[in-house]
Amino acid sequence: MFSNQLNLDEFMLGLHKRNPYEPEFHQAVQEVAQSVIPYINRHPQYIKARILERMTEPDRVISFRVCWEDDEGHIRVNRGYRVQFNNSIGPYKGGLRFASNLTLDTLKFLGFEQTFKNSLTTLPLGAAKGGSDFNPKGKSDREVMRFCQSFMTELHKHIGAHTDIPAGDIGVGAREISYMFGQYKRMENEFRGVLTGKGLEYGGSLVRKEATGFGTVFFAEEMLKEHGHRLEGKTCVVSGSGNVALYTAEKIIELGGKVVAMSDSSGSFHAPDGITKDQLIWLIDLKEVRRGRISEFAEQFGCEFHKDTKVWQFPCQLAFACATQNELDLHDAKTLLANGCMAVAEGANMPTTLEAVHFMQEKNVLFAPAKAANAGGVAVSGMEMSQNSMRLSWSTEELERRLHVIMRKIHQQCLTYGRDDNGQIDYVQGANIAGFKKVADAMLSYGVV
Ligand code: GLU
Repeated sequence: MFSNQLNLDEFMLGLHKRNPYEPEFHQAVQEVAQSVIPYINRHPQYIKARILERMTEPDRVISFRVCWEDDEGHIRVNRGYRVQFNNSIGPYKGGLRFASNLTLDTLKFLGFEQTFKNSLTTLPLGAAKGGSDFNPKGKSDREVMRFCQSFMTELHKHIGAHTDIPAGDIGVGAREISYMFGQYKRMENEFRGVLTGKGLEYGGSLVRKEATGFGTVFFAEEMLKEHGHRLEGKTCVVSGSGNVALYTAEKIIELGGKVVAMSDSSGSFHAPDGITKDQLIWLIDLKEVRRGRISEFAEQFGCEFHKDTKVWQFPCQLAFACATQNELDLHDAKTLLANGCMAVAEGANMPTTLEAVHFMQEKNVLFAPAKAANAGGVAVSGMEMSQNSMRLSWSTEELERRLHVIMRKIHQQCLTYGRDDNGQIDYVQGANIAGFKKVADAMLSYGVV
């Protein structure tokens, strides 16, 4: 049991036993374990302290009932969660997701990933994730407000500006954060930076909304440059049309790339010549304000709409996976390669299946994993916390500059830990080992806690 070498299969067997029926959590851990176990075996201090076993066990899992009343006066019951994963290098930090199919499995995978991502940002941020199986789609603003107030009435006991600072994720945007912050402030009678992604009028940060998408493109650009390419002039597909996808598309267009396809859960548009900045602004308004469907965009600008189709089937040089987990599988990866795709960047969390990642690495498709590529969102959340503590606001230029510096530093960490003997860079390995080392070393310093 206490061997001086870790074995991947044995480790995963134990993890499956301790966490049955949690395939997404297994997948997220497997991806990390594959790259860190060889590293751990060269550094026995981590084996002796059983760091990987400890890192894969959340500090705590909080689950609670959320009751609220809909517009017809019916009582609704949902489940709320906060998975506080690891606070070794800073207070718990990570988003809240509202989605009808949300389970503890998904939140454990997201919280685990967040540990490494937050470590890579170079900022003092621990890791957590939370949310609810409440589906905000189709609900009125008043219903969303009542749900958020009820959710925060319980969650407020477990969070705090130095304890745990939630933010948005799928289904949680400016509207939901505002309702939750309003309720938190009312209950605590204190104005604190306890959530990030807040409105600009009440302690939010410029560039936070754009940060995940912008950061993903900055990272992709660094990766391309490292390999003698550039983003300018490249044909790109972007999956999704939520917060990450919209601002990924904006930065691609700004840097001279062509966005030829985007999607939502109903299908994709295809515009082979690329969409313009003005068309994108129309799409942002459609998605953020009018809460419409991507087919309306296709109709408005006369481009093809492909019902129930993902963007991976359209020819591109660069692919940005910005919708949700496991949206790009082996079949999609083969299609991308056959159509000449040279690089994939993950803007969403774990959008690529393990088989697809391995296939692309084998075929030398550049691959930017989520932990590194999408860390810009939480990095600017960290900057929102700094601004709140200092009670001042930085300018757009200052924040974008800082975001760019952080994305470059993350890329640098991937090079340091991801270069193999032939000089090739494995970004998955680089991100996993760099993210692991900082948290593991902090855990070692604390002794057995
Ligand atoms: N939900 C985002 C993520 O996956 C942002 C988290 C945050 O800003 O705390 O990293």
